[in-house]
Amino acid sequence: MAVIRLDNVSKSYGETVVLENVSLTIEDNEFLAVVGPSGAGKTTLLRMLLSQEAPSSGRILIDDAPIAAEPMPDRGVVFQRYSVLPHRTVIRNVMTGPEWLAAPFTGRVMGRARAALKSRARNMLDRVGLGDHATLYPAQLSGGQQQRLAIAQALMMNPKVLLLDEPFGALDPATRRAMHRLVLGLWAEHKMTVVMITHDLSEAFHLGTRVVAVEKRRHDPHAPHRYGSVIT
Ligand code: ADP
Ligand code: ADP
Repeated sequence: MAVIRLDNVSKSYGETVVLENVSLTIEDNEFLAVVGPSGAGKTTLLRMLLSQEAPSSGRILIDDAPIAAEPMPDRGVVFQRYSVLPHRTVIRNVMTGPEWLAAPFTGRVMGRARAALKSRARNMLDRVGLGDHATLYPAQLSGGQQQRLAIAQALMMNPKVLLLDEPFGALDPATRRAMHRLVLGLWAEHKMTVVMITHDLSEAFHLGTRVVAVEKRRHDPHAPHRYGSVIT
C-alpha cells in the first residue's frame, strides 16, 4: 500500500518559486498522470517524491509517514533518458539497480544471495520481454528495449511507488503502444501507485486513472499555483 500526500508543498530555487502550496493526495494503486507545460515544475515534483530534492516548505507523506530524506528502494523511477550503465550487461544492470540508488543494493552480493538476485533479475527481464538479451550491452538494444530495461531495473526492488518521467517520449508510436500495454499490465499485476509525467494528453488519458495539470505560476505573486484535476 502506498498513499502519497503532499501537504502545502512549495519549492524554490533561490528567488525562483517553482511550486507553491501544492496539496495533492495520490491514492493507493492510483495511476496518476501529470501534464503541464515545460517549466511548470513537473520534474521537480517527481524529484521530491524520489527524495532527490527536499521541499522548501510543506510536507510529503507516504502512508502517513514523512518521506525518507534519502532515496529508498520503495520507489522506482524511469526517466526518459534511461539510467542504465553502458559498461554493464543488461542483466548486471538489473541486478545492481539504478545508479542513483546507493548501497546496500548496489553493493557486492555473494553466494546464494547473488544467485537469488540473478534469478530475480532474469525473471524481470522475461517480464519486459528482454529474456533473450541478458548478456548484451545497453548500446546493442533499441530505444524501446533500453526503456524496457530501465523498467525492469525499477521493478527489481518491488517498489510500492513507480515514478515515470516522460518515459516513452523518445519512442516511435508502435513501440510506445507496446510500452503502454506493458506498463498497464505491470501496474495491474504489482498493485503499485504510479505517477507518470507526460507531454502527451492522449497518453495521459489512456493510462491514467486520474489526470492532474500543473499550471505555470503567473507573475502575480499572490496568484496560487493551481493544481487542476480533470476527471477521466
Ligand atoms: P517541468 O518538468 O514541468 O518542465 P521542471 O521541474 O524541470 O519543470 O522545472 C521547473 C522550473 O524549475 C524551471 O524553471 C527550472 O529552470 C527550475 N529548476 C529546476 N531545477 C532547478 C535547479 N536545480 N536549480 C535551479 N532551478 C531549477
Ligand atoms: P525500437 O522501435 O524498439 O526502438 P529499433 O528500430 O531501434 O527498435 O531497433 C530494431 C531492432 O534493431 C531491435 O531488435 C534491436 O535489437 C536492433 N538494434 C537497434 N539498435 C541496435 C544497436 N545499436 N546495436 C545492435 N542492435 C540494435
